[in-house]
Amino acid sequence: MPDIENVLHNIDDNLNMAVSKLFELISIPSISNEPSREPDIAQAANWLLRELSSVGLVAEIIQTKGHPVVLAQSLSGLEEKQKRLLFYGHYDVQPIGDPEQWTYAPFKPELIEDGDIKRFYGRGASDSKSQLWTFIEALRAWKSVNGEFPAEITVVLEGEEECGSPSLPEFIQQHREDLACDVAFICDAEMWSPTQPAITTQLKGLFHERVMISAPNPDLHSGHYGAVAANPIRILSAILAGIHDDRGRVKIKGFYDDVRDIPDALRKQWHELSRYSGLFDGVELSGGVIEEGYSALEAMWGRPTVDINGITGGNQGPGERSVLPGTATARLSFRLVSGQEPEKVRASFRRYVESLIPDGCSVVFEGISGSSPVVLSQDSAFLRASAQGLEAEWGQPAVLIGTGGAIPLVQQFSEVLGADCIVIGFILSTDAIHAPDENYDMERLRKGARSWVRIFKEIQQMQ
Ligand SMILES: [Zn+2]
Repeated sequence: MPDIENVLHNIDDNLNMAVSKLFELISIPSISNEPSREPDIAQAANWLLRELSSVGLVAEIIQTKGHPVVLAQSLSGLEEKQKRLLFYGHYDVQPIGDPEQWTYAPFKPELIEDGDIKRFYGRGASDSKSQLWTFIEALRAWKSVNGEFPAEITVVLEGEEECGSPSLPEFIQQHREDLACDVAFICDAEMWSPTQPAITTQLKGLFHERVMISAPNPDLHSGHYGAVAANPIRILSAILAGIHDDRGRVKIKGFYDDVRDIPDALRKQWHELSRYSGLFDGVELSGGVIEEGYSALEAMWGRPTVDINGITGGNQGPGERSVLPGTATARLSFRLVSGQEPEKVRASFRRYVESLIPDGCSVVFEGISGSSPVVLSQDSAFLRASAQGLEAEWGQPAVLIGTGGAIPLVQQFSEVLGADCIVIGFILSTDAIHAPDENYDMERLRKGARSWVRIFKEIQQMQ
């Protein structure tokens, strides 16, 4: 049996080094959707290539049509029955937004004492550089104590997750053989609370739409024509206001056609989660409208939603401008559940909008692709092994959760590779992900790395 106590000690003893390495990675502004950051993306990929090589993996950088993928594998040549575990993470980050809103520098992380917690701030601190660092650190510690990896290992680190993973489907197809594995761990997900681990087994689908409504005329003087000419903002607002009824139901015809009911057993499982506190900590829900007949968790994880993400048009300036705008634009996101497909729901939405455009006005839609919802099996030996490993580390059972979020590659991995996918991460919704002052803490980094060691042990003991 492998010596796991020594591996766990090794992680504890190496924690300061692990943190300073992670700080090097966070210091690289690898923002994937700002073209000027391409050299930083390349620098982050090269940095990871070096680190994965120093852990003992054979690493390479694979160019794609977009940003490169870092692919690393163990080539131990151990017995064939050895399992192959794949780890996925992403090294790209979101833009920082308004720098004025950051209390801490986004790319100069340092440890800040916050009571008992040692926290660090930076873009990517939580999403997702610390996440990928948990499994790299676990692999390093295991190899240095035991002389070999716990199984055959593949690591895939993507550089375009934050801009929708456009190159990933082609990468997965082209590298099917390199990626073949028994189980793929997708490490980019939330815990239930700071002390309670979770495994995500249900993910929503997602697509976006941009809708622009134009009047027959460009901007007009609202005094001259306000009483008579069409106002696209007024038309758009009425359309958007008509999407929901006052019970929180979506009124778009056909929207719920393919939606599968939440199975009773799952409703019960989620209901039992209400005994664990934590999920809504730090978020005020008053003023929200939960769809009638569903609990908050059921609405978040098991019911489709439409969200209006932004509206623009007309006078946005600091002063008054009495204008009848020529156009009005809205952006929306649609979160889908089991049974729904993005293109079909998109078509119903477009028909709904078109039916409400007055004569003389016109509408242009923009929006392509999207991801389908994913429901992962809860009856997987790898899932049970992972749950046991997590519980051993955190001292609390790993809860099986859903998410309103989408991770499109989960579907691609399970379809193309035919592997079990296990979605585990050590993020919290209070980490200010995608927001100013994104942060993470040293203890979760330590326990995250230790969790993987315990999971490796459980997997080695699987029959
Ligand atoms: Zn993200």
